[in-house]
Amino acid sequence: MIEYPKLVQVEDYERFVGAETIERVRKKAELLQDLHLAHVSSTYYGGGVAEILSSLTLLMNSMGIKTGWRIIQGSPDFFSITKKMHNALQGGQINLSERKMQIYEEVIYENAVRNHLDHDMVVIHDPQPLPMINHYKKRGPWIWRCHLDLTNPNGELWNYFVQFVEKYDAAIFSIKEYARKLGTSQLFFMPAIDPFSIKNRELSEDEIDERLNHYNIPTDLPLVVQVSRFDRWKDPEGVIEAFKLAKKEAECTLILLGNVATDDPEGEEVYKSLLDKQEERIIILSREDTALVNALQSRAAVVLQKSIREGFGLSVTEAMWKGTPVIGGNVGGIRHQIEDGVNGFLVSSIEETAERMVQLLRDEKLRKKMGLKAREAVRKRFLMIRLLEQYLDLFNSFETIYRLSNKVL
Ligand code: UDP
Repeated sequence: MIEYPKLVQVEDYERFVGAETIERVRKKAELLQDLHLAHVSSTYYGGGVAEILSSLTLLMNSMGIKTGWRIIQGSPDFFSITKKMHNALQGGQINLSERKMQIYEEVIYENAVRNHLDHDMVVIHDPQPLPMINHYKKRGPWIWRCHLDLTNPNGELWNYFVQFVEKYDAAIFSIKEYARKLGTSQLFFMPAIDPFSIKNRELSEDEIDERLNHYNIPTDLPLVVQVSRFDRWKDPEGVIEAFKLAKKEAECTLILLGNVATDDPEGEEVYKSLLDKQEERIIILSREDTALVNALQSRAAVVLQKSIREGFGLSVTEAMWKGTPVIGGNVGGIRHQIEDGVNGFLVSSIEETAERMVQLLRDEKLRKKMGLKAREAVRKRFLMIRLLEQYLDLFNSFETIYRLSNKVL
């Protein structure tokens, strides 16, 4: 007989957030018992959205909210178009041809036919499944949750998307700076991490050594680590450049660990382009191993997230939770995650990244001090229970409206 692990319960968070918060969250969930809810996204694996939904959907179920998670099916053509759209929403260019829009909307129509979304509430994640709303008679509120960095979206593409977005009852973005002119209410939820997952739970020094040895990762010099999808927005080349500059002044080893999400056709190419850049102290790894992510983030002297655009960098928060100082690109959500000079550093160039690396590598006391503050910031602001509560508040506000309107009718 298989023994199933006990699912995380909201009470498990008590030691991090105290009994009062748990009681408050439980009360909010009580009002939503048996609500039937569906999340829809474009991949079960790879990237922050899948990471969040893996934990959040179970936690919601454990509170009595019947929460499902569907993903959309799509041809390689479709995902190549949606990746171009993703890039354009983050400020890149796109040739928004009739053909692209046709394939995009057709595939979503087929998905709408296949999925029977007759739930009390539906949460659609990111642009890939956005037009699903065109094909249903809503039984309750539909919410669009966009995780991208919308600092400077391509205007033509955004205007095309507005027709879909405005059909939703609410749109959620990660931070206020992403607010748009819309005829739909907008809310701002920063993502959060699950402290009980294999990726984030506390590892012993032996467990960390075991994972690092397993992949022959040298530990004779301090480790500088970036963990992120192989994606140009994460600037892996800039990381290597910065590392080369820093290494002249402080000895260290760089580990770039990455993966490729199933909805991202560009990842493989980015990975291959980096392989030539490997050297004795520059290690590029593509491994599916969440315990390795944990081990690297825990053992690193410094974690980098040198993104050029970042809706919100889950991997920044993961490393901070392990008490590791993070040097992050001064962009998008990262600005809200790292308090510059207090619990990490924000940087805007390769040179600045290198300077901060050297500063941290040379100063163990500073690393410890910043690391402690980083963990405390995550405890207060970025654990999954905070995100859960924000969703509960939103669902409750709709429930009240719907209950009232049903009474009037
Ligand atoms: N990740 C991973 N293995 C890798 C690279 C990334 O598990 O090789 C995880 C990382 O730990 C984080 C997520 O993928 O949980 C990336 O989320 P983030 O918000 O940083 O970026 P996104 O990929 O969503 O743009």
